[in-house]
Amino acid sequence: MSLLQIAEPGESRARQACHGRVVGIDLGTTHSLVACVRDGQPVCLPGPDGEVLLPSVVHYRSSGPPLVGAEAAAMAHLAPYDTIASVKRLMGRGLHDVMGKCPYRLNERSESVVRLRVAGGREVTPVEVSAEILRVLRQRAEQALGGELAGAVITVPAYFDDAQRQATKDAGRLAGLEVLRLLNEPTAAALAYGLDRRREGRFAVFDLGGGTFDISILDLRDGIFTVLATAGDTALGGDDMDRALVELICARHPGGAAFAASVEADPGLARHLLLQARQVKHRLSSEELVRITPVGGEGEVQISRADFEQAIAPLLQRTTLPCRRALKDAGLTAADLDGVVLVGGATRVPALRRHVAELFGRPPLCDLDPDQVVALGAAAQAEIIYSERNDMLLVDVTPLSLGLELMGGIVEKIIPRNSRVPTRARQVFTTYADGQTGFDLHVVQGERETAADCRSLARFQLRGIPPAAAGVARLEVTFLIDENGLLHVTAREQTSGKEASIQVKPSYGLTEEEIERMLLDSYEHGAEDVARRQLLEQRVEADRILNALRAALAADGHLLEPAERARLDEAAAALAAAREGQDHRLIAERIQALDRASQEFAQRRMDQSLSRAVAGRSLHDVERAVHLQEPATEGEPCPG
Ligand code: ADP
Ligand code: MG
Repeated sequence: MSLLQIAEPGESRARQACHGRVVGIDLGTTHSLVACVRDGQPVCLPGPDGEVLLPSVVHYRSSGPPLVGAEAAAMAHLAPYDTIASVKRLMGRGLHDVMGKCPYRLNERSESVVRLRVAGGREVTPVEVSAEILRVLRQRAEQALGGELAGAVITVPAYFDDAQRQATKDAGRLAGLEVLRLLNEPTAAALAYGLDRRREGRFAVFDLGGGTFDISILDLRDGIFTVLATAGDTALGGDDMDRALVELICARHPGGAAFAASVEADPGLARHLLLQARQVKHRLSSEELVRITPVGGEGEVQISRADFEQAIAPLLQRTTLPCRRALKDAGLTAADLDGVVLVGGATRVPALRRHVAELFGRPPLCDLDPDQVVALGAAAQAEIIYSERNDMLLVDVTPLSLGLELMGGIVEKIIPRNSRVPTRARQVFTTYADGQTGFDLHVVQGERETAADCRSLARFQLRGIPPAAAGVARLEVTFLIDENGLLHVTAREQTSGKEASIQVKPSYGLTEEEIERMLLDSYEHGAEDVARRQLLEQRVEADRILNALRAALAADGHLLEPAERARLDEAAAALAAAREGQDHRLIAERIQALDRASQEFAQRRMDQSLSRAVAGRSLHDVERAVHLQEPATEGEPCPG
């Protein structure tokens, strides 16, 4: 493979700006941190108050710059609408996603962007609020490092979608940061523990923060982490423990029910008590017994660690199911793991650590500070990127995207262009037709949306998988480009364990001019390609639905009255006609119409054999399914 450096617009500028001052930033829901590498060791940088944790809270005033951090948090009870906390939950979200769920004043007439109305008649977007937090961290780092920053790695949850990632990048740019890369939080934690120095392994990263719980399963091979599965609970965290403690304090208070009632009646007092409860929680992580005099009443309350553990037992229990699900989705059991990493301040609670140890059958890794571990890993990564950029003029990158042909001739890109080598990517596919017993795999290279417009690299087949209903089989396809630029494609059907693989030399025979032409081509045809892809996708979907309907009618047509049957046939005919046309929107409309027309029928079929219909496939699987076609040549006989 040729050594190529294709500079992205703006990248050359970034390189010039590098003075060696790069940082890692954990932009958290509750707290944010910035870290850098000093004398080869990542360290978190403290603010003027000596604290490394910056509360992710921004308070807007009627004039002057906003307050950020602890000062802002102190204003929350006085000006709740002007004090924005947990803005991470709003990042990359549309107005409709957050309406009714957001405790701030929303501009409900804004197009689709979330705009918060704050003091001084101003409106701010979540990106702007996050940028305020990042700006404070940037200043903190520039002061500590003595000059302008050359770049930052910012972490994001592994489940963040493109819009959420883009919003995070935008916030970085708005804060005057050169975002070197966004890094998944669990991967950052694994890097902080140096797990990437092992040859390979599988790790769980258990992250319990202030208000969210995330569990991720990572796979390390050839020095590259892949996220195999994520799960969690977006409404579970240390804050819930605080509330459980408040209840416990009220129940124990010598003032009895009158005390509880006075707290309930006074939001200011309730907030204060909540802060006090949080202090108690923190102390109980190292002390066995805590005595406090709660605000708003006479008398002392004693809370032992055992009392606290009893109060939060149901909360700990709520982490169990997501962990099991993530393992199951990754196709692993706890015994297959090589380690469990703890992340998030709430994992300091000893009972939580015991719970995790029990859940995974091993003590978790917890030598690093769980609030800092993500930022430390991000700093390590920033340093690596920086030093690589500095001493490399030539980095081995994939000059063109590599992908697989799907049903309908569409290309699914598996490794995007400009990925650094070595690299690995994984994607799960499923069968298109009932009874399909094989897969036809066509590996292509290029930027265009259809296989016919890309360069064909290789074809191979996987046969002999047990026939099953469409969408049940799970074909895991892995693309690995090794240090030598060789592409290894492996396809493994998970239920049967059948496997096939092939090796190709992707850029063999391509000159730089050819690569350039293929890239230019894709830019030229961009819009046209997208339209063509949409049409092909809708056609595939139409065929799939028409086939499924045909099979369902053959099997269970007796469940329909003649008039109902006529309506369905009519909707199916309308779809079949649209499918032959060029209008992808019309096809989509008729798919929906057919879907509506067949709902009653589907319901009856479900009622008839509920267990058979859902056995072995979760909704999750079906949603993520991408269909691959069956080999065209002599397949095994398929029923139906
Ligand atoms: P996020 O990722 O959501 O920003 P953090 O990782 O900073 O959150 O975790 C914040 C949570 O950790 C808070 O609920 C805080 O009370 C809790 N926490 C911090 N220190 C301790 C401790 N010593 N014992 C128990 N909980 C703690
Ligand atoms: Mg966090």
